Amino acid sequence: PDNNAPPMPWFGMDIGGTLTKLVYFEPRETNRRELDKETEVLKNIRRYLTRNSAYGKTGRRDVHLQMENVTIRGRRGTLHFIRFPTSEVGAFLQLARSKGMADLVNTIYATGGGAYKFEEDFIKEVNMRLSKMDELDALIAGVLYVDSMNPRECYYWAPPDEQPVHQLPSDTPPYLEAALSQYVRKPYDFSCPYPFLLVNIGSGVSLLVVNGPDNYYRVSGTSLGGGTFLGLCCLLTGCSSFEEAISLAASGDNTTVDKLVRDIYGGDYARFGLPGDLVASSFGQMCSADRRAKVSREDLARATLVTITNNIGSIARLCACNERVERVVFCGNFLRVNPLSMKLLSYAMSYWSRGALKALFLEHEGYFGAVGCLLHLDA
Ligand code: ADP
Repeated sequence: PDNNAPPMPWFGMDIGGTLTKLVYFEPRETNRRELDKETEVLKNIRRYLTRNSAYGKTGRRDVHLQMENVTIRGRRGTLHFIRFPTSEVGAFLQLARSKGMADLVNTIYATGGGAYKFEEDFIKEVNMRLSKMDELDALIAGVLYVDSMNPRECYYWAPPDEQPVHQLPSDTPPYLEAALSQYVRKPYDFSCPYPFLLVNIGSGVSLLVVNGPDNYYRVSGTSLGGGTFLGLCCLLTGCSSFEEAISLAASGDNTTVDKLVRDIYGGDYARFGLPGDLVASSFGQMCSADRRAKVSREDLARATLVTITNNIGSIARLCACNERVERVVFCGNFLRVNPLSMKLLSYAMSYWSRGALKALFLEHEGYFGAVGCLLHLDA
């Protein structure tokens, strides 16, 4: 054990534009001396966090992501993953105060824009100082750590029989739908990761080229991200949550909303290898009043998802080619409960690069910044 480690409890927090992610380390080998020393307050906090999976109205623990038997600063224990909407930071602070955290914790390791925005509130409400870490440093440290602790962390979506997708027949519309439904999730050995492109799809999107643990740069970004998907979906369909938006999209059909190559050419644009069922113009059918009158909420949600996803895929591919990187790792909570976007990204990466690029995904999706923060807790 590391004698300079700060006192328990250990948290890492990422206060993002939409969601706040909180990672809690529950130590396993508490020896007798430490148990005696463990205060009532600390015990209560541990019990409260580890025995519940919902906190207040909007806090959730992602029990399926829990990591057993990890080591941090020489201590073994379990990592717990908790999230709540950043709009509820006030309620979180009240809860923290009611659990006696204010008396116990004087510094919380935090990243994300909210670590700056809410710094004063943390001091005023719970007397907690925020020790701030850069969010991209934290993100990469978190990805590398979690991957090293979890052999199943990194995975990809494989097309049937792992045929390169650009060789699949394109004469059976709806070809893409049929192909995507057959994709299966497979583990990927990410033990020699460098170089890779890391695409973090949160409210907005950041793209980083990572050449080594402490060697990376931000190459690009786009404001058309997960926040855009959810915002547009709420406007267009009247939905009120991410889960609802995703489930609408899952049963919708974007071809009633988008204008496809075949809507313009009557078939493929063969000369440049563009298949007929490729989207030529996202939302391009919605200029017609007749079409608008017939479109369903599901179709609008699907088109929004496909538009945002393909745009991110396209930027990722351009960056990967430019930077001569073959592996593209996607993370961020936009991919939560969203296999459709993951499969679309996998297809797009492979198809448009003629099999040269590989799309990879990580099980802990949006929690890496918070983990990275936890790792850097300094006394
Ligand atoms: P940020 O740090 O910017 O908050 P995240 O990686 O947490 O970024 O991703 C936020 C995005 O994740 C949202 O814009 C939305 O698309 C998606 N998302 C997934 N689950 C939820 C949820 N329960 N509530 C709101 N957005 C969610």
